[in-house]
Amino acid sequence: MTETGFNAEVLPMEVAVAPGTDTPRILFVNQASVLGGAELSLLDIARLLPFHNRVALFRGGVLFERLTQAGVAVDILDPTGDGLSRVRKNSGLWNVLGSLALLVRITWRLQLLAGNADITYANSQKAMVVGALASALARRPLIWHMRDILSADHFSPTMRRVAVMMANARAATVIANSHATAEAFVAAGGRRKLVRVIHNGIDSKPFDAITTQMATLARTELMPLDNGFLIGVFGRLTPWKGQHLVLEAISTLPGVSAVFIGDALFGEMEYKHTLHKRVECEDLRGRVRFLGFRDDVPRLMRAVDAIVHSSVNPEPFGRVIIEGMLARRPVVASAAGGVLEIIEDGETGLIYPPGDCAALRAQIERLQNDPALCERLGAAGYNKAQACFSRTAMIYSIRQVVMDTYLRKQHRTDPKINNKDAAEN
Ligand code: UDP
Repeated sequence: MTETGFNAEVLPMEVAVAPGTDTPRILFVNQASVLGGAELSLLDIARLLPFHNRVALFRGGVLFERLTQAGVAVDILDPTGDGLSRVRKNSGLWNVLGSLALLVRITWRLQLLAGNADITYANSQKAMVVGALASALARRPLIWHMRDILSADHFSPTMRRVAVMMANARAATVIANSHATAEAFVAAGGRRKLVRVIHNGIDSKPFDAITTQMATLARTELMPLDNGFLIGVFGRLTPWKGQHLVLEAISTLPGVSAVFIGDALFGEMEYKHTLHKRVECEDLRGRVRFLGFRDDVPRLMRAVDAIVHSSVNPEPFGRVIIEGMLARRPVVASAAGGVLEIIEDGETGLIYPPGDCAALRAQIERLQNDPALCERLGAAGYNKAQACFSRTAMIYSIRQVVMDTYLRKQHRTDPKINNKDAAEN
């Protein structure tokens, strides 16, 4: 197995286990190859965990390129087709069964790779289902990094049942990206003792590196929107992220402009089109710009006056909220899911009930009229994000889970340890 994943620039002194011959070999599995929050987090973990890391993706794409550029070995499980993307989160039983042949092919390829690793680490829900089958065939432990809220808002009953059943049967540990995610898993029937909550951690360096001058320059690039208070809405375009709500909220706030950063990553073209049509109306004309997917999020966040998060369903975690805090900008976010574990209302940001357009409007207006509040929230948010959501802390916690799983596996399979245990009993 190719040796990757150890980045000496990160945690060099404190890492207890450096890659060597008896270092765990981890096979990460991810379904999507676009850059959503789960994939950006995986990119960090696969690069920085001090183990022998390899990633299996269902198909090629930009994540494949980023991993490869970072020196991580990557395998594509389904190079020919659109793969299991036909199976949607809300798919029923027939749709799932229809993709069975493909599932068998992918599982077979994955179990060959899993057999050459010590641990299979699934980074998405579909990856977990396939990873559970493959790791069972290869007789390897499975870790599931759960990044979705298993509720009716996001998943069909069939998908929830399958996920919980597989996780209960096969996962050594379920890492949940928030308490909200963990509780939804348990409420859906998941075993509580499997769960470890590890919040996403974000590297603050790219945000700290943006000088005031660079931010001012970025702001001028956003002209002619800069006719007053400028909000930034970061994240993929999809109905449950609620970008439409922001448009309605600012339609009656004439001094407010908005930039939307992110694209429809999972085929939500109709929604994107509806948003674009909406901003042509008189009440929004000239005040809104869509920038599509961008790689310079820290720079753009520092260029706006406030960050707005607008999900109408509970957000499993919400990386963009932490990023807004690291950019020292006041964040307004919808009060559900992981958001409640990040923001203290009025202290480290502002919250409002999910889907409540009038309440969102009121919070944006509050910030627009109170620069001192913006300043205070930005500073407190930065301190909170630094203290509680660092990437280093996340890598440490994940490393611990992986090591525990690895040592348990060694203990089970090492005949010397087993014989000693038997003699002592
Ligand atoms: N993002 C990005 N470019 C964009 C829009 C978003 O790099 O144009 C990143 C954003 O900075 C964040 C991630 O995508 O790190 C979104 O993660 P989040 O947890 O907010 O949402 P998810 O995609 O997981 O639902």
